[in-house]
Amino acid sequence: MDLKLQDDLKHTDQLLQLTKDFSSRFLSSIDKLAADKQVEINGEVSIPDAGIGGGAALEMFRQRYGHGITAAAGPRYWGFVTGGVTPASLMGDWLTSAMDLNSSDKSSVAFYIETETIALLKELFGLPDEFLGCFVTGATMSNFTGLAVGRQWLGQQLGVDIAADGMAALSGLKVLSGTPHSSISKAMSMLGLGRNNLVRIAVPEHRECVDIPALKKYLQENKGPFIYVANAGTVNTVDFDDIAELVKLRDEYGFWLHVDAAFGGFAACSDQWKHLLNGWEQADSITIDAHKWLNVPYDAAMIFCRHPQLQTMVFQNAGAAYLGDPSAQFNFINHIPENSRRQRALPAWFSLMAYGKEGYRWMVENNITLAKQLGSLLADDPNFVLLAPVRLCVVCFTLNVAATEEAAAVEEYLEILNASGVVCMTATVYDGRQAIRAALVNWRTSGKDVTMVYDAMKVLAEKIVNKYTYA
Ligand SMILES: *Cc1c(COP(=O)(O)O)cnc(C)c1O
Repeated sequence: MDLKLQDDLKHTDQLLQLTKDFSSRFLSSIDKLAADKQVEINGEVSIPDAGIGGGAALEMFRQRYGHGITAAAGPRYWGFVTGGVTPASLMGDWLTSAMDLNSSDKSSVAFYIETETIALLKELFGLPDEFLGCFVTGATMSNFTGLAVGRQWLGQQLGVDIAADGMAALSGLKVLSGTPHSSISKAMSMLGLGRNNLVRIAVPEHRECVDIPALKKYLQENKGPFIYVANAGTVNTVDFDDIAELVKLRDEYGFWLHVDAAFGGFAACSDQWKHLLNGWEQADSITIDAHKWLNVPYDAAMIFCRHPQLQTMVFQNAGAAYLGDPSAQFNFINHIPENSRRQRALPAWFSLMAYGKEGYRWMVENNITLAKQLGSLLADDPNFVLLAPVRLCVVCFTLNVAATEEAAAVEEYLEILNASGVVCMTATVYDGRQAIRAALVNWRTSGKDVTMVYDAMKVLAEKIVNKYTYA
């Protein structure tokens, strides 16, 4: 054995202890670390001829990257839609790496853990048993998988097996949606459906949900078959398509109904908010992210699909799974893009068991309450303009400056706000306005954080608003 490997093998326990100490120090200071900062890394590294061993690698990692570690998993990282690892999911993730099982190997316990975790998640979300659930790496891959099965369905309507014969036999396929996430066009590009074949159906004024009469009109006037991507939680204003109405249209006009509920799906955890998802249990496929509101580490999401045969046609690995009894042959690799894969389900299993339905209800409702609090503070402050009601966990706002100054003012404001380290938010364009969004989906976030962030926001906003108003 290589000497360094031999040495590390002998000292594995010590190396894990060092790693644990590093992790504990990081996690216990996460409240004080900057939510975001500009990182610069000096010099270059190259692979050493003789390795330095795990202990020295940790030290080098600390020196080289330590200053750049931010609290992206902390309570005030409100950019994109980003959860943060719960203690129990970290335990699961650590064990996942320690055991290094292949979750696609049916003979290993990993297979059973994934199967059971999917069942727990269906209970949490109130989704019926008919859905086959599988872990994938993120909502983008989940959307990809849902659209891939939808594409197979489209082909079937036209008498073509796309998985076997490819897209060449078809033309004019369209995917329809109101306010789709950017990952939908990416998935269309990867699937050969083509980004340009995404048809944006109208949305009502100042909304991001689809206008049902407009969709109905499109379906009456155009010849399908189509895939419709329903949005259950848009990233700017967490708007929801009326899924129950979409199900009615699907039953009348026959399209594939995919629901992108990457984080909006967590409304199902709360009796107060689950009505937003009414009808989703009848969708053909559903995307839900795990590394967002489930607060497990990257990278994990689920695809739920109720057409296992079509799914197998697309994703079967070689021909083997196609033969014989499909239920006896069941294996995740025949239903998703990945073949070998890490045991992504285990962090979720730990967190679901550790915190249960009540823990997740609390997490979701707490974040919503806090987002609404921030929304009211901004609505009452003349420096800001709230651009949409806070429907769930995202606050979308801009600065109260002249329209012509908006773009420059918002850019400058966001830069100094994020540079303060107190919070991280992301820029967006909403309703034609240059805007900022704050997404609260982290379990650590508290009322104290909202106050701290608002105080910092107010001081900086006064500066920028004055500058642009009296320039
Ligand atoms: C985040 C998100 C995605 C993409 O998710 P990844 O996990 O980054 O791949 C897709 N759809 C919606 C609505 C999202 O919020």
